[in-house]
Amino acid sequence: MTRLTLADCFDPTGERFGIPTYPWTYAPDGLATRRQLRARGLRPGGQDIAAQLLRPRRRRGPLTAYLYRIDRAKPVRAMTLAKRAALAKANTARRTCPECRRDAGYAIPTSLGMCTPCAYPEE
Ligand SMILES: [Zn+2]
Repeated sequence: MTRLTLADCFDPTGERFGIPTYPWTYAPDGLATRRQLRARGLRPGGQDIAAQLLRPRRRRGPLTAYLYRIDRAKPVRAMTLAKRAALAKANTARRTCPECRRDAGYAIPTSLGMCTPCAYPEE
């Protein structure tokens, strides 16, 4: 692959790449990467990729980032009650000593496999 220049990466109509393409850091307003959406509490929500960013790299294909439309993004799903309960149960299980069956108040270290009083009864 011939090396792209910064100018090659500027293709807002998608004529060259099939989808609107901009050089890295030149993303137009209203578009965001998946990670940037997540930082705003949003997710792509099933929309297609709206554009891509390309950053030319030496001797390799360009670095690509896909962009989504912020106005079509949806809020990250709130945790359901069932999921919350399952997580709480898993946390309790992690704190419960398999030896004395008590809630140690902390996650049982996998290196010991039991709570500290059970692992070191003399101390
Ligand atoms: Zn114990």
